This record gives sequence, structure tokens and C-alpha cells, in this order.
Amino acid sequence: MQKTMVAVVKPEPKAGSEICEVKVPSFGPRDVLVKVKVASICGTDLHIYDWDQWAAGRIKPPLVPGHEFCGNVFAVGDEVTTVKEGDFVSAEMHVACGKCFQCRIGEAHICPNVKILGVDEDGAFAEYVRIPYADGSLYHFPPGGDEESLVMLSDILPTGFECGVLNGQVKPGDTVAIVGAGPVGLAVLLTAQFYSPATIIMVDVDDNRLAIAKTLGATAGINSTDGHAADHVIKLTEGAGVDVAIEAVGIPATFDICQAIVAPGGRIANVGVHGKPVELHLEKLWDRNISLTTRLVDTATTPMLLKVVRSGKLQPSRLVSHRFPMSDIMKAYDTFGNAGKEGALKVILTNTEPA
Ligand code: ZN
Ligand code: ZN
Repeated sequence: MQKTMVAVVKPEPKAGSEICEVKVPSFGPRDVLVKVKVASICGTDLHIYDWDQWAAGRIKPPLVPGHEFCGNVFAVGDEVTTVKEGDFVSAEMHVACGKCFQCRIGEAHICPNVKILGVDEDGAFAEYVRIPYADGSLYHFPPGGDEESLVMLSDILPTGFECGVLNGQVKPGDTVAIVGAGPVGLAVLLTAQFYSPATIIMVDVDDNRLAIAKTLGATAGINSTDGHAADHVIKLTEGAGVDVAIEAVGIPATFDICQAIVAPGGRIANVGVHGKPVELHLEKLWDRNISLTTRLVDTATTPMLLKVVRSGKLQPSRLVSHRFPMSDIMKAYDTFGNAGKEGALKVILTNTEPA
């Protein structure tokens, strides 16, 4: 049995994540084991690390977190047909059965058997990760690809694109506001530009992130620290509001901004993971013909996004701000958790080869 370094969530005291040794996962006939090469910390992992209300209601510790990664197939179950040992792959952040009605109509994210890696199943912040339902859950990556960009394809790029851009129906000439300039908000920003919106306004509390957003294509940045972000957006759009308001944080204040800035006939696309209820202001919106959408990513667009990344037209590795070896994962979490102070966007973890 090999030793594996992982962050394991324990219920006591508070969250209590620590690095310890766990067994290499066993695997069944439909599973594969992947040797993790490069991984990245996501906001979802931080919910677990901080042990917030959402995590406490969902996570059954001890758990190995982590769902953004790429690596090589190490061992293959007998019934798996689509990958072989040594293939370079990434998994969908959630793995689905591939057999139920929802899976067959292309809605794998609402499969009754769906499991999110690093949330419902042990994840990738380890040396090895087990991928259930491996046929249909893995993406082949070209050897020699930009590994840091590929890691962004396991979650933030398809999440930003599917939940934000596609659900928000961004169209040429639209005025778009993205509330939240963290990694997922910036992934929305990158992929919204496939459709040539005329204006993309980023809203965030962090001037550094707003400055980065401008280098990535935002046409305006609004710092929401003064509590009047909605007024600023309305003024910037000469009273019209925005065609698409994309919520990319997951707290009531940012959802409120979206409701206050959406133009009549506009769309609010929620991307953020909400840990608390929000107020829905139907007293203002009931006659405005707006649409509100929510969803979990299902990564159906990953193959398309991979093509765009390979062409060089999309460079998600520009979102990487910090790099750590996997063994320094606690330091990496602290850096990501203090993103404002540390200037952190995506934090990359790399498993170094054992000597
Ligand atoms: Zn993620
Ligand atoms: Zn299914």
C-alpha cells in the first residue's frame, strides 16, 4: 500500500483539515485510478476548508477534497473501455452514471446517481484519485498540452460558460455585467467574448481583480465596496440597465446587485454557490419580463472549450496566480483563502514525482 499525502476534513475541532496518509483508493470494474499530476483549489474546496453551513450539511468527513485536476490513468477497471493505462486525462467535476434518463438526454448534472468528486467522493488533493463511472466521465488530453490550462477545463471554464454565458444567452451587442471577478467570474468574462457583447462590466470589491479583468477584456470595472454598485452600473448604462447580469459570487449582496441592474427583458444567470437564502424582489421584477436561471455545470462543452484552448484563442492559464507543491497544500489553502491580501486567483498544486 502506498502512502498518500492529502488534506482530510474532520468534523472536530471546527473544520480541522490536515495532511495525513490515506490508503490508495480501491476501484471497481467501472472505475479507474488516476495519478494526479496538477490540481487547483476551487471556491467549493474553501467552503469545506472553512466548514461553513453548506459544507456541514453535505460533507461526510473524513474526505479528500479537490475536483480540478489532470493526470495519467494508473489503473483501469475491467469494464472500462474508453481509456487505457498511461492516458493523460481530466475528469468531469461530477461523475454521473451515464445510464439513467437524465444522463441519456444530456442532463448529467441532474442524474440521480451524480457524485461530485471531492464533495461526495474522495477527490484529487492526493496522489491518486478514483474516478467512478470512468467511461463518460473522463476527457483525454493531448500529451504535451498546457497542464495549467487543462486544469481550468475541469470546472471553472465550463462552469463560467455553461452557467453564466449560455444560461444568460449572451448575444452580439449585449451589455453584460459580471458580478464577482474571482476565477469563475473571470472565466465568464473570457468565454462571454465568444459572442461579442458590446459592453462587459465587472463588479468586485477588489481593485486588483478589476484591473486584471480589464486586461482580459472587460470594458469597465466597478468597485462595489461603497455599497452603491447598482447605481454605478445604472449610470454607466445611461439608465438602461444590463441585458445580462451574471452572479458569480454566491452571497445575497451580489444577487441583489443583479436584480437591481437587470434591464426589462433581461436575464439573470446565477453561477455562485449560495450558502444562505436570498430575497427575490418580485415587487420590482414581476412586470419586467426577466428570466432567472440556475444550474450546475455538466461539462458538456468541455470538448469544445478544449479545442479553443488548443488553438491559443483562450488562455485560461492567465488566471493562475500562485503555484505550490501538493505537500504545501495548507499554505496553498491559506493563500487562496486570503485572496484579496495575497492577490490570489487560481492556485496550482503539483504532485512531484517520488524519488
Ligand atoms: Zn471547482
Ligand atoms: Zn445518470
